[in-house]
Amino acid sequence: MILTPEYVFRRIESITPEFLAQHGITALVLDVDNTLTADGSQVLDDSVRQWLDTMRAAGVSLTIVSNNTDKRVRPFAQRVGLAYVPLACKPFSPGLRVARRRLGVAKSRMAMVGDQIFTDRLAAGLYGIPCLFLLPRTPHDKNRVVRFKRKFEPYWLSKFYRNGGKIYE
Ligand SMILES: [Mg+2]
Repeated sequence: MILTPEYVFRRIESITPEFLAQHGITALVLDVDNTLTADGSQVLDDSVRQWLDTMRAAGVSLTIVSNNTDKRVRPFAQRVGLAYVPLACKPFSPGLRVARRRLGVAKSRMAMVGDQIFTDRLAAGLYGIPCLFLLPRTPHDKNRVVRFKRKFEPYWLSKFYRNGGKIYE
């Protein structure tokens, strides 16, 4: 089922170049809110900055795809030096299509990185790429719709655990 996460990471810094190499992934599509930073935040943690440097050094292509507005995403994307797609309509595919063209990679080399089952995990599944699912960076979501969707996420995570899934720390 395309809602059950295939891979779960404690946080974005838990994703390693070794994992990507083992899975043939050379390009990552990154969510912003509760993925690269807290929801609505412009703060870039040192550990995330280092993670981005590690990914770049490993030759991994990166781009941002967010459902949030240009106003919210642009300053953060500029801070981390990445191209971005705002108002991406995840779980639908337009944003991911733009990202793929930008990254210039085959779909089989891409993965989506994000913290929401009904947005990031589902978008990856509908588009036909893996999702590297993250536990949300903080327990806080500003958007009421996001808070509502959160209520249904534990069911899909429990399926991951029942299938023998383990979190990459
Ligand atoms: Mg998010």
